[in-house]
Parts: sequence; C-alpha cells; structure tokens
Amino acid sequence: SPPVQAFDATGATPVMQQFFEMKTRQPDALLFFRMGDFYELFFDDAIRAAAALGISQTFRGNHNGQPIPMAGVPHHAAEAYLSKLIRMGFKVAVCEQMEDPAEAKKRGSKSVVRRDIVRVVTPGTLTEDGLLDARGANRLAAVAIRAGQAAVAAVELSTGEVECFSTGKEGVGPLLAALSPSETLVADRLLADDHLAQTLKICGGLIQPMPSALSEPQASETRVKRLYGVDTLDGFGGLAAAEIGALGLIAAHLEMTQAGKLPALRAPRRAAEADVMSIDPATRSSLEIDRTQNGDRNGSLLAAIDRTVTPGGARMLASRLARPLLDPAAIDQRLDAVEWFVEHRGLRERLREQLKGSGDMARALARLALGRGGPRDLACLRDGLKTGEKLAGMVGGSGDPLSPPPVELEGALAALTPSLHQGVSQLLNTLEAGLGPDLPALARDGGFVAPGIRPELDQARALRDDSRRVVAALEQRLIQEAGISLKIRHNGVLGYFVEATAGKADPLFQPPLNATFIHRQTLANQVRFTTVELADLDARIAQAAERALAMEVAAYEDWRAEACALAEPIQAAAEALARLDVASSLAEWAEDAGAVRPIVDKSLAFEARAARHPVVEAAVRRAGDPYTPNDCRLDAAGEVAARLSIVTGPNMAGKSTFLRQNALLAILAQAGCYVPAKNFRLGVVDRLFSRVGAGDDLARGRSTFMMEMVETAAILTQATPRSLVILDEIGRGTATYDGLAIAWACAESLHDTNRCRALFATHYHELATLEERMAHVSNLSLRAKEWNGDLVFLHEAADGPADRSYGVQVAKLAGVPPQVVARAKEVLDRLESKTESPAKLDDLPLFAASAPVAAAPVVSAPSAVDGALKELDVDGMSPREALEALYRLKGLL
Ligand code: ADP
Repeated sequence: SPPVQAFDATGATPVMQQFFEMKTRQPDALLFFRMGDFYELFFDDAIRAAAALGISQTFRGNHNGQPIPMAGVPHHAAEAYLSKLIRMGFKVAVCEQMEDPAEAKKRGSKSVVRRDIVRVVTPGTLTEDGLLDARGANRLAAVAIRAGQAAVAAVELSTGEVECFSTGKEGVGPLLAALSPSETLVADRLLADDHLAQTLKICGGLIQPMPSALSEPQASETRVKRLYGVDTLDGFGGLAAAEIGALGLIAAHLEMTQAGKLPALRAPRRAAEADVMSIDPATRSSLEIDRTQNGDRNGSLLAAIDRTVTPGGARMLASRLARPLLDPAAIDQRLDAVEWFVEHRGLRERLREQLKGSGDMARALARLALGRGGPRDLACLRDGLKTGEKLAGMVGGSGDPLSPPPVELEGALAALTPSLHQGVSQLLNTLEAGLGPDLPALARDGGFVAPGIRPELDQARALRDDSRRVVAALEQRLIQEAGISLKIRHNGVLGYFVEATAGKADPLFQPPLNATFIHRQTLANQVRFTTVELADLDARIAQAAERALAMEVAAYEDWRAEACALAEPIQAAAEALARLDVASSLAEWAEDAGAVRPIVDKSLAFEARAARHPVVEAAVRRAGDPYTPNDCRLDAAGEVAARLSIVTGPNMAGKSTFLRQNALLAILAQAGCYVPAKNFRLGVVDRLFSRVGAGDDLARGRSTFMMEMVETAAILTQATPRSLVILDEIGRGTATYDGLAIAWACAESLHDTNRCRALFATHYHELATLEERMAHVSNLSLRAKEWNGDLVFLHEAADGPADRSYGVQVAKLAGVPPQVVARAKEVLDRLESKTESPAKLDDLPLFAASAPVAAAPVVSAPSAVDGALKELDVDGMSPREALEALYRLKGLL
C-alpha cells in the first residue's frame, strides 16, 4: 500500500485544510474530493490516479510555495472511473458536499461547504449494478485463527448474505477457493505465516491486512453485536471464537468503509467444513468448474449447465456448484425439486416466463439499506414481490392435477405467498399504487410518485404544471371584475403581475377596484399591479416545484424505511425466487442435455453408465462430431469393482476428458443437479482431488514439476477412503525413470494407504502390470485403431491396458513433416526390437537396483534429431555415408 502522506496544513486555504483533514482519516485510499460537478484528486492521489486512468493532471493553487497537483473526474461519469480504479487494486474514499453551497454562503462569505467521507470503496464492498457482475457473487471475506481453529466468514454486501465456516488451518485454502472473494480481511500478524499468506494470495482477491487488535475476542464481539443491532450473539447458535473474530473483522471494515450506514445483513449461515465437499484450489481450477483456466466463464461447467433467468438464480447456482453437499438427504431434497420441474414441464415453462421479469430484489434491497438506492430499486422490489405472488398462485391454486411440490419448493412458495406476510403484501400494494411509470435513478430527480396517492403532492404538482392554466383563469376573472382589458405577465423581478395599458388603468386606482389591485410599477405605456390572490399564487407556484420534490423525497423515504424494516421477509422472498429459478433451470438443462437423476448414498461406490462431459460434448457437437459416452466403475469398498483404475491410451485419445468427466459427475450429483449419463450412482465424496499433467499447467508459469509434486503430496496426505482422486499424467515433468518411479509409488500409496476411489491416467504403460500385483486395481484404456495407416480415435473406454502408445501416429496427425515421422518409425522399430517387451519391469532400476540403465527401454520417441544422432555409428561410416547423414540431419531441422 502507498506511503502515508504527511501533510503540513499550516498556511493552507480553508478548502485545503478540509482536504487534509479528510485525507488523514483515509490515508491509504485515493480521496475523491467533491467540488461542484467534479471529484477532484490532489497531491500524490492526483498523480497516481492520472497515471492509472489516463486522465490529465494539472495544478491548482499553491501549498507551501509548491503548486498542488490536481486531477478530476466529472461526477456523472465517476462510476466508470471508480470501477477501473477498484479493479486495479486501489481503495477510493468518496468525500461528498454535505450541503448546498448557497447554505455555506449564508454562514459568511469565507465559509467552506461542509464535506464528509460518505464511503470508502473497496472491491468487496461494491453494491452498484454498474460495478457488479449480476450473475456472480461479490464477496468480502475474513480469515481468523484462534487456538488453532480457523474460521472463514464471507459477506455479500450486495445481497446481505453472510456465511461462516469453521475449519482447520489447511481448510482455509479450499474454503476461500470455493467462495472466491474479491477482497479478504486478515489480521496482519497472520500474514507472517508463509503458507497462509500464499493461500490468501492465490484465492483471496485483494488482501486487506487489518490491525490484529480488531480480531481480539472482546472487540470483535462488540462490533458484531453492533453490526446486527443485537445484545447477544446467542441467537446465532454458539459461534466459535474464530468465527466471531472473522465476523469482527468484517464488522470493523464495514464500519470504516460505509461511514455509519449499516447494511441489512442476514444472520450468518454456518457450515462446518464437514458439510461440503472439499475441493482444493488447484482441483477447482483444473476442473474449470465456474471459469476456465484462462478465467473465462464461457467453457466452464457452470456456463454449460446454467439456464437460469434471474441474477439471483445465477448466483445461487454458482454457489451450489462451488460447494457440493455431503448429506445425501439434503442432496435428495434439491434433486426432488429438479425432478418435480422435469415432471411438470408446462408449469415450468410458464413459471420461467414470469421469473424473467423478477429483477434482482436482493441487490436492490441492499442498496436501499445502504442509502445508495433509488426509485428503480423500489420498483425492483415491487416487480419481484409481484412475480412471487403470481408464482405462488400458479403452483398453489392452479387446479392442475399436479403432484404436491417437494419440501424445497414448498418452503420457497411459502416465502412468496403474500397472504402469509401482511407487511410484505402491504408494501407491495403501496409500491404498486405509489410508483409512477417513469422512474429516475435518484429520488431527488423526482417525478416517480404516481398521481392520486398524496393529495398535497397532486396539488403542488398541479400548481407547478398547470400554472399557466391557473393564471389564465385568474386573468379572466380579473378582467371581468375590472371591466377593462388587462394581462397577467411574469418577470424575474416582480414575479407574476397584472398589466394594464397606461391610458386605461385609471379605474384600478379608484374604489372599489383599488381594494383589489395594488399598484407596483408605472412605465411609459403600462401600469403594473398585483393582487393578494396573484401574489399568493406567485409564491405558491414558486414553491410548488420545491414542495412537490420534497414530498416525493419524503414518500421515497417512507417506502424505503418500510422496505428496510421488512428486510428479512424480502430477502427470504428473493431467495425463494432464486430457488425456483435454479430448480426449474436445472430441469430445463436436464431435458436439453438428456441428463438423469443421480443416486447419491453413503456407499463407497462410483458407477457411471454412458456418461458424458458436458463441456467437451458441447464443443465436439458444435464441430459436427458425435460424443462417445463412457462407463466408469469404481468401488472403494472393493465389492463390485476395483477402487483404482489405471487409464492408458494414446495422446488425444480422451484420457483427460474421461477423468474430468467423472469428477464433474460427482460435483454435479452432490450439488443436487442431474448428470449427463444413462445412470449414475455415487457414494458421497468427501474430498475431490485432481492433479493434471505438468504440460497443461505451463500457461500459469509455475515451476511445473515442483507444483505437481506439491499437489501430489497434498493428495497423498489428505485423501480418505471417501475421497475421489483423479491423477493425470503424473511424473511427466521429469526424466523418464524418475517419473515412472514416482507414478508407480503414488499408485501404490493410493491403493494401499489412501484406499480412495481413483482414476490414474498415465503414459507409462508399465503401470498396467499393477493390476496383477494388487487386489483392487483395474486397467482401462481409451481406444484408438490404425486404419489405412492413419490413427482413428474411438474415445471409447474399454477394459484392459492400451496395446501401444501410437506416439508416432499422433505426431503425424499433428502435422510433423513426413520425413521426420518416417524416421521416427524407423527409430521406434529398432528400439522395440532391442527389448522384447518395453514393459519388462525387472529391467528398471526401481525394481532391480543393479540393472544397467543403458539397457533400459525408451518408451516415448526421442526428438527426431536426437534420435538420428544417437543412431549414427560414426566409426563405421565411409566419408560418403557421413556426408549423407549430415544432409539427412539437416533435413530434420
Ligand atoms: P488425452 O488426455 O488422452 O490426450 P483428451 O482428453 O485431451 O485426450 O481428448 C482429446 C480430444 O478428443 C478432446 O479435446 C475431444 O475433442 C475429443 N474427445 C475426448 N473424449 C471424447 C469422447 N468421449 N467423445 C468424442 N470426442 C472426445
């Protein structure tokens, strides 16, 4: 973070003094200092913001004899600049003018407009639609550790959701990866722990070190109570000390950034680590669950199955997929809801049509609570509640011969039935009647309260809008009364006045008319009067607009307060809409994708029949090819199948697709989704691990072999008999024998020690012999065949090991020049003829330490030039042969 600027405010102008005061309150944030229509930045802030935003930097006045650097952004475009700065990792403090400059003037000509910091903007505390991804959560997380127990708390300010997890220290990474916060708070002393610091860096978003004192038990508890406005935390069901510590950091951060406005937060939902499938960060990213390894949403599992029609539904689906459940009963509840919508297709379609218009109540409510909302947010509540009412009626009172909705939906429908909550239905009525058709973003722009609601407002508006008509009517009456022609006119000095031609004005000075007409001004040709009634009208018209606006703002405040007082049932309704959206859209996807309901139980089985990889399938089909479904059977209890499958097959045969496909099935099933398969039975997976080939990791620029081993170590130390492990090409990042040795030892350990269900893809065909040596190992291979000298991939998983690796054929397919391919074939034939079997294990140093290394088989083809060079028998060559060999080598380059 930037150095704290020490300012010497002596001799500063009053405005600059005010600036310095604000700046010392938020020294490490850029200060957006409101001056009229601009937010101005000064000193270092100006220089840094100008560089970051590409805006020009100028100077304004002097301080201590030096010109003051200044940069500014227009306030109406501030959101775009803010969003850019936040994404670049800056914090921004927004300092507003708290009064009309005219009021400051009234206090004296030297008076400065009152200003105050209304908010500090950080990545985790955004609530504006324009700054947020509607379909993704934006979480602020905090990590605390107390007496060896760790806790992760996360709040989504834009919806008020709060979650709290207790875990061991090693559980922090997987939890943060699942939450993927945009900002994480942590007591600064914890950052001394290298491992934790590294974890935070990888999955915590912007890391915000906090003074350690803030996470102390007493201080935390006080803050959390204040945040929730409660006297005791008992209502939250015995929060652990670390959980209170984490929530305390969040409370402290919100107090600091929200400048006193407290968000409408929901009671923390708590989950023990034991409630959700643990998926470590590396596995999460390699399986591309909610984004691809390049960071795109497109191409992820989530994007493939997401048919949600509301932002809230999209967010709920993402969070379900990020944290699959462990309890078969809870999983079944979700699946029941999906199944119900699969069965009731007509209703589903009508319901989804309605849902489309339901908006984003959760975020609208949060903005209202934080004082950042406007009439459109109220309209959003209206539309959401109205949709809920319709949906509840649709399912409850349709008279269709429907089977009764399952528990999951029943709860949702109850939260949407307005008769069950009087306050909410009253609010809905108020908003339906109260909001007009044209809604400005801000209440102070006015014009949003419907006519006929508040008589005084209607009068004020009538006066403002109909002033011409009212004045014309009065003019007619005055003409009749006076018996001469006259006109009502308006100017800036007199306001409204009556004007008569100089020669005809006499009667107006005489009784009885002089009782009505009061002389104001005499010009050469005209005489001007006013009347009590006109003066009154004039004042009323002038005030009408102002009063109309004030009344609208008051109406807005009433409704806002009413809505905020109903935060709980409104949030429940928002969540109910999201549930209906998720269940119905999963049913929609299941139908599109031909997915089935999985059976999830407490066994240790994994039985997939004719399963498919949802993302690869879509890609393959787009290219016009068919996708080959595959079976996979594993059983850690060792009853119906082996628990460890060695998967071989040529490159490109579909090994990694097969591995990932099976991991994704487990995630989908435990998240409560249907799965793309003919059928699928799964004994609950407690932890999912995947380790993918070093080559696939290169893009991330890590020391690949080291990374591979770190991740492998985690798997071997943590996988339980309930876990599912997929290992892809382990050991590829090092020399052949090293790699084979490591792969071999890992496979043994998974089999003997971890005893988990595992798929182990390898290009070391030697591992196929494990089947004979161990009780619970099977061989699978992804088939390919040679046809007319070409290689055809069948993508078919069959029992038994691959017969050969087809590396040379794959090289040919990849467009390696023909002469190189031909030469590689030659080399391969020679190598293969030297040893009868390349898989003869007793030749390897691993199993016969004294065996000579040189006699060992080479499994994969060496680089063409290397191979050719090694083959040369230099001593036995004639000069002519040597020259030919040289030409040949050159041709290989
Ligand atoms: P490997 O890991 O064996 O090198 P991949 O799993 O990367 O192979 O698969 C290579 C390509 O083959 C994929 O990108 C996909 O286009 C295709 N493929 C894989 N599995 C299947 C399948 N079951 N049906 C059809 N095409 C598949």
